[in-house]
Amino acid sequence: MTRSEELFNRAVKRIPGGVNSPVRAYGAIGEAPRFIDHADGCYIYDADGNRYIDYIDSWGPMILGHNFPEIREAVLKACEKGLSFGCATEVEVEMAEFICEHLPHVEMVRMVNSGTEAVMSAVRAARGFTGKSKIIKFAGCYHGHSDALLVSAGSGVMTSGIPDSAGVPAGCTQDTMTAVYNDLDSVKTLMEQAKDQVAAVIVEPVAANMGVVLPDEGFLQGLRDLCDKNNALLIFDEVITGFRLAFGGAAEYFGVKPDMVTYGKIIGAGMPVGAYGGRKEIMEMVSPSGPVYQAGTLSGNPVAMAAGLTQLKYLYAHPEVYTGLEKKGTLLYEGMKDLAEKAGLICHLNHISSLGSIFFTGEKVCDYTSAKTSDTKAFANYFLSMLKGGIHLAPSQFEAMFLSDAHSEDVIHETLKVFSEVLEKGNLY
Ligand code: PMP
Repeated sequence: MTRSEELFNRAVKRIPGGVNSPVRAYGAIGEAPRFIDHADGCYIYDADGNRYIDYIDSWGPMILGHNFPEIREAVLKACEKGLSFGCATEVEVEMAEFICEHLPHVEMVRMVNSGTEAVMSAVRAARGFTGKSKIIKFAGCYHGHSDALLVSAGSGVMTSGIPDSAGVPAGCTQDTMTAVYNDLDSVKTLMEQAKDQVAAVIVEPVAANMGVVLPDEGFLQGLRDLCDKNNALLIFDEVITGFRLAFGGAAEYFGVKPDMVTYGKIIGAGMPVGAYGGRKEIMEMVSPSGPVYQAGTLSGNPVAMAAGLTQLKYLYAHPEVYTGLEKKGTLLYEGMKDLAEKAGLICHLNHISSLGSIFFTGEKVCDYTSAKTSDTKAFANYFLSMLKGGIHLAPSQFEAMFLSDAHSEDVIHETLKVFSEVLEKGNLY
């Protein structure tokens, strides 16, 4: 028995499903998840001492690679002063100033502890500001596990308020409307149905939780226009794309200005952090300056802020990280596409900069319905074969691959070699 298997056997007895977040489970894969001991650069090492090239990158925050020396130093230095005070600190002010000074669409920002909290709070602020109740989200977009947002409708059909999780009362989701990603008409129809009751449209500007799905040309601008026309706020959930597609995230990348934005893990460089921000007049609604209540004992934690601010400052000072990620993304994902084509594999590969997903389907993947045509058994075969070849991927079809600055071109070529060997063996479907 491997150490990972041993740990998993212990874990399932005391932790639901043996993991503290379902995305870590190997569910359909049929093996124990690899328990991780440590990580460095683009490599991650499991409890059995196996080394993998890591494309999870802690689901995004490790954009500079694992255990980045300057960030580690900043954390150790901050720890010397104490782990938490539950009181205001200078580093929080610096963080807020740094973000607002460099992102034109963020005039004020509030730190929280996760992406879930960031979105939940942003939606509350949007409702408080507009005095309206309904929100429109998109099928297949994930915005954390707060009650009102656990609706993805499970199909491309427009529907209103069917919770995706047991334990979410229908009342919590009755104001959540679900539209079809890349389908502006579906948003327009919901806006008309809701008759001036829509507080906000929330979207992953690049969807990364149904696998990677890119916005069609004009989709994000179309949402901007529809929001303006209907006096609704546009919220970009940039938990994945923020500081990753560009320093200014998808808003900068696509040149569309949201009213509010939510960030997550990347702001904490691996420490538990989230944030929401936007126009000053909206953010001033938040307590204690306004009537929208939102609080957090550990929010703006000094150790997390030290880690995150060091990473953000590094990213801002090194724009070549972003050009590098574009180049490496093209090398990796176009390389995979070429190999798959040559091998005659039926698949569709979506990618943008460092993010990418391979779908095991002949269909173009542009929304939740088409994403779900992927053969998840073929994905499980691909995942396990890649793992055995030393490549650590997210154990689900409906997640992204994350490249970091630490993935060198050599490492990408190594990854492509493993992929071509997997293709040679065949039998994915
Ligand atoms: N929004 C998006 C777009 C996400 O991808 C995630 C999680 N990956 C969340 C919100 C929730 O973030 P967290 O897991 O930190 O609560």
